[in-house]
Amino acid sequence: MKTAKQIRREFIEFFEKKKDHTFVPSSPVVPHDDPTLLFINAGMNQFKDVFLETGTRPYKRAANSQKCIRVSGKHNDLEEVGHDTYHHTYFEMLGNWSFGDYFKEDAIKWAWELLTEVWGIPKERLYATVFGGDEGDGLEADVEAEKLWAEVTDINPDHIIRCGKKDNFWEMGETGPCGPCSEVHIDLTPDMSGKDLVNGDSPLVMEIWNLVFIQYNRVKGGALEKLPAQHVDTGMGFERIVAVLQDKKSNYDTDVFTPILDSIGKLVGLEYDKATEEQQIVFRVIADHVRMLTFSISDGAMPSNSDRGYVLRRLLRRAARYGRKLDMKDPFIYKIVETVVDVNGEAFPEIVDKADYVMEVIKSEEESFNKTLDRGIELFNSLVSELKSKNTKTIPGSDAFKLYDTFGFPLDLTRVMAFEQDMDVDEAAFEAEMNQQKERGRAAGKFSMQEDEKLDWTVFSDGETEFVGYDELEISTSIRKWAQHGDHVHVVLEKTPFYAESGGQVGDQGILQGKGFQIEVTDTRKVNDENVSIGTLSGSIGEDASVDARVDTARRTPTLYNHTATHLLHAALRNVLGDHVQQAGSLVAPDGLRFDFTHFKKIEPEELEKIELIVNGKIQENMPVTTYTSSFDEAKAKGAMALFGEKYGDVVRVVDIAPFSVELCGGCHVKATGEIGPFIIAQESSVAAGVRRIEALTGPEATRYMLERRDIVSKLEQQLNAPAAELVDRVQNLQEKTRQAERDLQKLQAGQIIDRVDEFIDGAEKIGDVSLIIEEFENVEVDMLKQVGDTLRQKSTQTVGFLVNKADGKVNFVCAVTDDLIKDRSLKAGDLIREAAKMAGGGGGGRPHLATAGAKDATKLPDVYEFLRSKLN
Ligand code: ATP
Ligand code: MG
Repeated sequence: MKTAKQIRREFIEFFEKKKDHTFVPSSPVVPHDDPTLLFINAGMNQFKDVFLETGTRPYKRAANSQKCIRVSGKHNDLEEVGHDTYHHTYFEMLGNWSFGDYFKEDAIKWAWELLTEVWGIPKERLYATVFGGDEGDGLEADVEAEKLWAEVTDINPDHIIRCGKKDNFWEMGETGPCGPCSEVHIDLTPDMSGKDLVNGDSPLVMEIWNLVFIQYNRVKGGALEKLPAQHVDTGMGFERIVAVLQDKKSNYDTDVFTPILDSIGKLVGLEYDKATEEQQIVFRVIADHVRMLTFSISDGAMPSNSDRGYVLRRLLRRAARYGRKLDMKDPFIYKIVETVVDVNGEAFPEIVDKADYVMEVIKSEEESFNKTLDRGIELFNSLVSELKSKNTKTIPGSDAFKLYDTFGFPLDLTRVMAFEQDMDVDEAAFEAEMNQQKERGRAAGKFSMQEDEKLDWTVFSDGETEFVGYDELEISTSIRKWAQHGDHVHVVLEKTPFYAESGGQVGDQGILQGKGFQIEVTDTRKVNDENVSIGTLSGSIGEDASVDARVDTARRTPTLYNHTATHLLHAALRNVLGDHVQQAGSLVAPDGLRFDFTHFKKIEPEELEKIELIVNGKIQENMPVTTYTSSFDEAKAKGAMALFGEKYGDVVRVVDIAPFSVELCGGCHVKATGEIGPFIIAQESSVAAGVRRIEALTGPEATRYMLERRDIVSKLEQQLNAPAAELVDRVQNLQEKTRQAERDLQKLQAGQIIDRVDEFIDGAEKIGDVSLIIEEFENVEVDMLKQVGDTLRQKSTQTVGFLVNKADGKVNFVCAVTDDLIKDRSLKAGDLIREAAKMAGGGGGGRPHLATAGAKDATKLPDVYEFLRSKLN
């Protein structure tokens, strides 16, 4: 039997060696430079620019094996995964490509040759579908492909089938290159009766290969434009063809999956083959999700609360919840990563390098979800039984939202759980709750901007505000409109030097000086896309709208330092920590910067120092900072970093500190890095699982910070009478001395107490012929009381000693019993103390002659003593 590795190799070699194709490695499954796409979903993604003729390649024919993920957007197979046997969230797509070279004829001929001659798949089992035309798009049936199948292959003519747009017109997304396609399906029914099942969602007849004839571009609005050249783009599901060639009914029975299922089996103590159908689904879901997580995290994605990161989080949480069905309570998914790496590491070496990192990310994510998972499941179960008793079949949106908000259950997880109970979720109500929460969040912000709509504007002129504040900070301009809002005024200018808060950079402050009035601007923001300055008015605004506008440079200038420093920091972080670092939030203010980013562990002091040195080095180099506008694609080609989840227009502004940092950014920056002055990291901390925060200072603030620290050091030098270099040792010495002194003091105390043992014996209470010694102490060591107990035992007979230490509202007991009492009256210290401690809300025990215990309730001491007396009677 051929192994999966062999099959992959044979595919590539067939096109490379026999058909003159160039092998092209898979692109990362995370498209870092394309905010329109969450994950690579087909082999053609990396060649999109070739089809659109905005890019070229040095070859006209290519073959590859592309890592794909289909859990979002146009192609989303999540609901099928695990429940069927041939859809995965992550899978490999084998493809051959023609860029304006060969077209339908060769594509069809070669596909047939590989499947039937090289691999010997029985021809009677194969079907070919062709595009049957679409009126809406004004497209005819693909008669050409239909004829070619009949002419250039010896397929049974009855096996050529026309299908509609849904199956036989391939599109990557809402827009982009597309065209009619011709699919090869395989009939796995024993008696080859599957013709009617083609494109019928049956595991018995499944699509294995799609030959796409790219000849159109779908543009915004839905129209099709003919491309200048015709291309071939094919995609064959690797896992599916392996199943066919290994003669398996399920992708999961091939050597792509069996080692992973085995490794899950070992962890859960159950073999996949011996599991029930329902349990097997759990195995498959977990095996599938681990692959997806391993590949996507290796390529730089991170579980998080938004966009791409949330897809990872959802899958991981789903897998964790499915694991509960096999009683997996502790983090375990991360342990399967190793096997995924074993199976795929040769073809995709990047996952070998990242294996440890991937495991750490998954483990920490599992740990954090595990904290609430069981409580969430409990809540869900009691909810279900309550609803069922009322004959309701829909989980209310408010409960789904509670599961989401309090217990971290993604909506689709709740949906799966509901589905298993034959119920559904009121998703509209869930969305409504979600929106309400967002509203509340917004309302809790500094200003309520909704009220803005109610403002009573005095309008001088219409038109858009021109922002000139990149270069000019003091200008003459006019007010377009203004309005009173509480004790503030809102002002919109014709031209403005005031930067409105965005991209993390704070809004400008300053002065508007008019005829007969002055406005002290305290903030500038974007409201409904308008640049609005907010401030306090003195005097009154009359007929004359002209004003002199002046930005407060004492605030703006250090803001520039911090903004440019943020870009340098971002680049340095990626250099030192790796490409998985993605901006997750940013604040650029006059007095410092705050930068949140995805990174899974604490940053080590050496790493922080390295980052500081790199940033300061780039400042020292005094690199020019240039800004310009360009098309999004050109900026991307320059390697500009785009922030994920930001919406960019076709024209973007680039802040260029090449080659070190190129970022898309609309903010304000220095002209050369040297202006920034010193850069210093003041703090590194964690804000959420997988998100770290760096707070840093630049320019005068950094200097002030360093001077303050130096001042502290000088004072310590004086105080300790030692040079700075020796301070750490000195303090350590001092701490050690203090500890020693404390120990000595305790010994001294102990000595004093031991000296009082005779006094204790004299003061004993007589109960019959037994002496009971009860003594209370405060804040002494229990060890010392044990010594007292021992001494009591040596110095007396017929005696029970009960020593109590009170500390911080709690109590400790030590009980000692002399040997004669143990022997003659079977009195045991361990038994006595156990009951005594129980009475005071605690526990303990020990040997017959000496025992210790701790308890919480000091008010019960009189009862405890009474109990002891009763025992000795
Ligand atoms: P299906 O109808 O089976 O979902 P598709 O029409 O979505 O397939 P294409 O977009 O044409 O598939 O992708 C090309 C090939 O990739 C398919 O012929 C199939 O072999 C494979 N494939 C597609 N989706 C998956 C998946 N989720 N898991 C595994 N293989 C897949
Ligand atoms: Mg599909």
